[in-house]
Amino acid sequence: MTTNALASTIVIDTDKAPQFIDITERVVEHVKSSNVLEGIVVVYSMHTTAAIKINEYEPLLIKDMEDFLSKLASPDAYYRHNDFGIRTVNMGDDEPPNGHAHLQHLLMSTSETIPIANGDLQLGEWQRIFLLELDGTRPRKRRILISVVAYNYSK
Ligand code: ZN
Repeated sequence: MTTNALASTIVIDTDKAPQFIDITERVVEHVKSSNVLEGIVVVYSMHTTAAIKINEYEPLLIKDMEDFLSKLASPDAYYRHNDFGIRTVNMGDDEPPNGHAHLQHLLMSTSETIPIANGDLQLGEWQRIFLLELDGTRPRKRRILISVVAYNYSK
Protein backbone atom coordinates (compact mmCIF):
# COMPACT_ATOMS: atom_id res chain seq x y z
CA MET A 1 0.00 0.00 0.00
CA THR A 2 1.34 3.44 -0.94
CA THR A 3 0.05 6.71 0.42
CA ASN A 4 0.88 10.35 -0.09
CA ALA A 5 -1.18 13.50 -0.16
CA LEU A 6 -2.47 12.99 -3.67
CA ALA A 7 -2.40 9.28 -4.47
CA SER A 8 -3.17 6.19 -2.47
CA THR A 9 -3.85 2.56 -3.17
CA ILE A 10 -6.60 0.78 -1.31
CA VAL A 11 -7.08 -2.99 -1.24
CA ILE A 12 -10.63 -4.36 -1.24
CA ASP A 13 -11.51 -8.01 -0.53
CA THR A 14 -14.11 -9.54 -2.83
CA ASP A 15 -15.65 -13.02 -2.69
CA LYS A 16 -18.30 -13.38 -5.41
CA ALA A 17 -19.39 -12.01 -8.77
CA PRO A 18 -20.96 -9.86 -9.78
CA GLN A 19 -20.32 -7.96 -6.55
CA PHE A 20 -20.99 -4.23 -6.26
CA ILE A 21 -18.92 -2.73 -3.42
CA ASP A 22 -19.62 0.90 -2.57
CA ILE A 23 -16.25 2.64 -2.11
CA THR A 24 -17.60 6.22 -2.19
CA GLU A 25 -16.65 7.01 1.42
CA ARG A 26 -13.05 5.85 0.86
CA VAL A 27 -12.77 8.28 -2.07
CA VAL A 28 -14.41 11.13 -0.10
CA GLU A 29 -11.93 10.57 2.79
CA HIS A 30 -8.99 10.62 0.41
CA VAL A 31 -10.13 13.84 -1.27
CA LYS A 32 -10.68 15.53 2.13
CA SER A 33 -7.20 14.57 3.35
CA SER A 34 -5.59 15.87 0.16
CA ASN A 35 -6.71 19.47 0.96
CA VAL A 36 -7.41 19.97 -2.74
CA LEU A 37 -9.97 22.71 -3.36
CA GLU A 38 -10.43 22.37 -7.12
CA GLY A 39 -9.37 19.43 -9.26
CA ILE A 40 -10.34 15.94 -10.28
CA VAL A 41 -9.99 12.53 -8.69
CA VAL A 42 -9.38 9.40 -10.71
CA VAL A 43 -10.49 6.09 -9.21
CA TYR A 44 -8.71 3.33 -11.09
CA SER A 45 -8.87 -0.46 -10.93
CA MET A 46 -5.55 -2.24 -11.53
CA HIS A 47 -7.36 -5.32 -12.89
CA THR A 48 -8.91 -6.70 -16.08
CA THR A 49 -11.83 -8.40 -14.33
CA ALA A 50 -12.77 -5.75 -11.73
CA ALA A 51 -14.30 -2.46 -12.87
CA ILE A 52 -14.97 0.98 -11.40
CA LYS A 53 -18.46 2.32 -12.13
CA ILE A 54 -20.66 5.12 -10.89
CA ASN A 55 -24.30 4.16 -10.45
CA GLU A 56 -27.13 4.11 -7.92
CA TYR A 57 -27.10 1.93 -4.81
CA GLU A 58 -30.58 0.48 -4.74
CA PRO A 59 -30.77 -3.24 -3.89
CA LEU A 60 -33.32 -4.20 -6.59
CA LEU A 61 -31.42 -2.25 -9.21
CA ILE A 62 -28.22 -4.05 -8.15
CA LYS A 63 -30.04 -7.36 -8.84
CA ASP A 64 -31.12 -6.04 -12.27
CA MET A 65 -27.54 -5.05 -13.04
CA GLU A 66 -26.29 -8.49 -11.96
CA ASP A 67 -28.80 -10.16 -14.32
CA PHE A 68 -27.80 -7.77 -17.11
CA LEU A 69 -24.13 -8.68 -16.71
CA SER A 70 -24.81 -12.40 -16.82
CA LYS A 71 -26.89 -11.92 -19.99
CA LEU A 72 -23.98 -10.02 -21.56
CA ALA A 73 -21.57 -12.88 -20.90
CA SER A 74 -22.83 -15.87 -18.93
CA PRO A 75 -20.36 -17.58 -16.57
CA ASP A 76 -21.74 -20.91 -17.92
CA ALA A 77 -20.92 -20.29 -21.60
CA TYR A 78 -17.84 -21.62 -23.43
CA TYR A 79 -14.79 -19.34 -23.57
CA ARG A 80 -11.47 -20.15 -25.25
CA HIS A 81 -9.78 -18.25 -22.39
CA ASN A 82 -11.09 -20.96 -20.01
CA ASP A 83 -10.08 -23.88 -22.24
CA PHE A 84 -6.87 -24.82 -20.48
CA GLY A 85 -6.38 -27.74 -22.90
CA ILE A 86 -5.59 -25.28 -25.73
CA ARG A 87 -4.57 -22.09 -23.92
CA THR A 88 -0.84 -21.45 -23.43
CA VAL A 89 -0.51 -17.69 -22.74
CA ASN A 90 -0.59 -16.00 -19.29
CA MET A 91 -1.31 -19.27 -17.51
CA GLY A 92 -0.83 -18.97 -13.74
CA ASP A 93 -0.59 -21.89 -11.28
CA ASP A 94 -4.26 -21.73 -10.37
CA GLU A 95 -5.59 -19.88 -13.38
CA PRO A 96 -9.25 -18.92 -12.86
CA PRO A 97 -11.78 -19.78 -15.61
CA ASN A 98 -12.92 -16.17 -15.91
CA GLY A 99 -13.57 -15.56 -19.62
CA HIS A 100 -17.04 -14.17 -18.82
CA ALA A 101 -15.50 -11.61 -16.44
CA HIS A 102 -13.08 -10.28 -19.10
CA LEU A 103 -15.91 -9.94 -21.64
CA GLN A 104 -18.15 -8.14 -19.14
CA HIS A 105 -15.23 -5.88 -18.25
CA LEU A 106 -14.83 -4.98 -21.92
CA LEU A 107 -18.08 -2.98 -21.62
CA MET A 108 -17.42 -1.64 -18.12
CA SER A 109 -14.79 0.92 -17.20
CA THR A 110 -11.39 0.59 -15.59
CA SER A 111 -11.71 4.05 -14.01
CA GLU A 112 -14.04 6.91 -13.23
CA THR A 113 -13.05 10.59 -13.02
CA ILE A 114 -14.95 12.84 -10.61
CA PRO A 115 -14.62 16.64 -10.38
CA ILE A 116 -13.71 18.27 -7.04
CA ALA A 117 -15.16 21.74 -6.32
CA ASN A 118 -14.86 23.66 -3.04
CA GLY A 119 -13.08 20.62 -1.60
CA ASP A 120 -16.04 18.33 -2.24
CA LEU A 121 -16.51 15.44 -4.63
CA GLN A 122 -19.12 16.50 -7.20
CA LEU A 123 -21.48 13.54 -7.07
CA GLY A 124 -25.14 13.80 -7.98
CA GLU A 125 -27.79 12.82 -5.45
CA TRP A 126 -27.87 9.11 -6.41
CA GLN A 127 -24.33 8.67 -7.66
CA ARG A 128 -22.16 6.18 -5.77
CA ILE A 129 -18.75 4.86 -6.75
CA PHE A 130 -18.57 1.07 -7.02
CA LEU A 131 -15.80 -1.43 -7.27
CA LEU A 132 -17.47 -4.04 -9.45
CA GLU A 133 -16.05 -7.54 -9.04
CA LEU A 134 -16.72 -9.61 -12.17
CA ASP A 135 -14.59 -12.71 -11.46
CA GLY A 136 -16.17 -14.71 -8.65
CA THR A 137 -14.16 -17.89 -9.16
CA ARG A 138 -12.28 -17.34 -5.86
CA PRO A 139 -11.80 -14.63 -3.18
CA ARG A 140 -9.65 -11.79 -4.53
CA LYS A 141 -7.76 -8.78 -3.21
CA ARG A 142 -8.40 -5.89 -5.57
CA ARG A 143 -6.02 -2.92 -5.77
CA ILE A 144 -7.69 0.42 -6.44
CA LEU A 145 -5.69 3.57 -7.09
CA ILE A 146 -7.23 6.87 -5.96
CA SER A 147 -5.33 9.75 -7.52
CA VAL A 148 -6.10 13.47 -7.16
CA VAL A 149 -5.05 15.99 -9.80
CA ALA A 150 -5.02 19.42 -8.13
CA TYR A 151 -5.85 22.72 -9.82
CA ASN A 152 -5.51 24.51 -6.49
CA TYR A 153 -5.38 23.82 -2.76
CA SER A 154 -7.24 25.20 0.23
CA LYS A 155 -5.11 27.67 2.21
ZN1 ZN B 1 -8.42 -14.38 -17.15
